[in-house]
Amino acid sequence: MSAVSLPLDEEVVTITSAGVSPLLPTYKRAPMQLVRGEGVELIDSDGKRYLDFASGIAVNALGYGDPGIAQAMSDALSTGLIHTSNLYRTPAGERLAAKLVERSFASQVFFCNSGAEANEGAFKFARRWGRKIGTDAKVEIIALRGSFHGRLFASLAATDRPSYRAPFRPLAGAVSICERDIAELDTALDEERVAALIVEPIQGEGGVRVLDSDFLRRLRTLTAQREIALIFDEIQCGLGRTGYFFAYENLGVVPDMLTLAKPLAGGLPMGAVLVSEEIGATIQPGDHGTTFGGGPLVAAVAAHVVDRLSDTSLLEAVRENGAWLGEQLGAIARRSGKVRAIRGTGYIWGLDVIEPANEIVKRGWDEGLLALTAGEYTLRLLPPLVMDRDELTRGLKILEKIISK
Ligand code: PLP
Repeated sequence: MSAVSLPLDEEVVTITSAGVSPLLPTYKRAPMQLVRGEGVELIDSDGKRYLDFASGIAVNALGYGDPGIAQAMSDALSTGLIHTSNLYRTPAGERLAAKLVERSFASQVFFCNSGAEANEGAFKFARRWGRKIGTDAKVEIIALRGSFHGRLFASLAATDRPSYRAPFRPLAGAVSICERDIAELDTALDEERVAALIVEPIQGEGGVRVLDSDFLRRLRTLTAQREIALIFDEIQCGLGRTGYFFAYENLGVVPDMLTLAKPLAGGLPMGAVLVSEEIGATIQPGDHGTTFGGGPLVAAVAAHVVDRLSDTSLLEAVRENGAWLGEQLGAIARRSGKVRAIRGTGYIWGLDVIEPANEIVKRGWDEGLLALTAGEYTLRLLPPLVMDRDELTRGLKILEKIISK
């Protein structure tokens, strides 16, 4: 099938001669075509502006056109090194790993290219470690009801979305999902068989469920007693979104591994697995790898993002504005009578609504607001972390209008 190009303003849209998009239809895309980003707004090919309450699904924490990202990118490009492979040392990746280690419980970091890959890597490291401290039976991975950990075979097996899973069975073996219930977990977490428990401290795709810190502390106690690795998936809720650099910092619970992706490299693809000293000590050359992970360009940009998201005044603003957002959303719920529940913290919020959330998202496009869903009846809000009170207020006004309609 040959491809033809049709001009649309300055953009070029390519369709095949059969009149269909050359992109596989794995996404139901919104009709507008986004051509620019400025601050916390996106602009489409008709010049229409959209205030961003989505951040490219929790990626664009610094909004659009951040000068530091451009500078970091141009400095990195001036070295001529976009990629070297992981066969050689480069300063950018080592510097970034050192920053993440310095800020966290971890002693070492593995870089990859996405969230699902980060979780797959964490599962492999858990099995490597589990076999070392236990027997060949200590390989199982347990995830929680409501979880989303990615769409590759092991991360999908750890993802509680029947419709995402069913067409692709068989998924990776020895990965199962358990209720978010201490008694059930107490039974499931068999120390002879289980290598790791993976948990999102805030289940993002699963409806913005903020897990109770007491529940998480009990999971920490159980896993520590049984030598089961506790993995925190902070791919969506980490890196400042809760108002803390890592979500775990505010929970009084320290994991053994932590996965990151989404905002890490300012929109360039990057994932990371942070590992404790004990787990890191069991990993050897050849155990895992990836061609692109932690290359000089992405790592240089990520170092800038990590510095910005470590800024105490930015984190404080996310906490303060986040508390205020919660109050404002509560007021919208009362005034509209169209919201059944509100969950969230910082700049991650979910609103259970009484009509399909997708309909509200679509009305947002008309009114110039980009928002997300998290399941059929939950609206999800993930503004860039640099969004200020005035911009949030503007977004909330639109939100109230589209919810109340
Ligand atoms: N884990 C969590 C908590 C996520 O929210 C996501 C993506 O939404 C993933 C993993 C998968 O990340 P990616 O889409 O980069 O593979």
